[in-house]
Amino acid sequence: MDSFKTLQERKETIKLFMEYGVPGEFAEQAAALLDKFETDIIGLNLFHNFYSCLPEGTEDAIQKLLLLARKQGVFLLCASSFSGINYLYLVNNEGAVLLGTLTEGLPDRELLDFFGFKDNESFLALGKDLSCLEEYEISPVDRSLCPACQAGVGEYHILGCPVEVCPWCSGQLTRCNCRFTRLDVENIDLESQIEKLQERLDAAGRIPYAKEHSPGYLSDDVSDDNSEE
Ligand SMILES: [Zn+2]
Ligand SMILES: [Zn+2]
Repeated sequence: MDSFKTLQERKETIKLFMEYGVPGEFAEQAAALLDKFETDIIGLNLFHNFYSCLPEGTEDAIQKLLLLARKQGVFLLCASSFSGINYLYLVNNEGAVLLGTLTEGLPDRELLDFFGFKDNESFLALGKDLSCLEEYEISPVDRSLCPACQAGVGEYHILGCPVEVCPWCSGQLTRCNCRFTRLDVENIDLESQIEKLQERLDAAGRIPYAKEHSPGYLSDDVSDDNSEE
């Protein structure tokens, strides 16, 4: 397991890497893309891999993320960089792996089978015209996974996931005040505090992801929210 505790912490770490690797002229756009995916573990895992692995002296930044395939919480994504390279990533809620570039295709037979591609030829055909590919968005195709941290139904969220329901007040755990009142603190940023919070949460009984937790979070258009939330 990696050492990150919360989505916010992951984002801060990525921002540090970005200070060194992102060319000034693209800094604003790259930061905006990071902001867009700040509550999305898939996007954050990819960014973390990309920006932490940039070879020293190389400057580049991700311009956009394209969705090639997704299945059971595993995403095949293309990260198009400003220098024109299309990186191919395999991502789930635990991490991201760089597979190569889009022009090399997906030589791994197991991955081709998993995502339902006949062969590398048919995969390469998909990547020929990037304008035909949909951009990767946070919105899930179905609700069997938490839209933010990709926990499955019945699984616990990654701590810091904005979808997690507070076991004390049934509100949104990242928004309500329970985490502060329970620890009797005003801020939670120390590792020890986060650990203590996790203990308290476990003792109270954390609420695992359920499909009905998803819609309220997803509705960008709050006025039109007809969910039972
Ligand atoms: Zn979640
Ligand atoms: Zn609460």
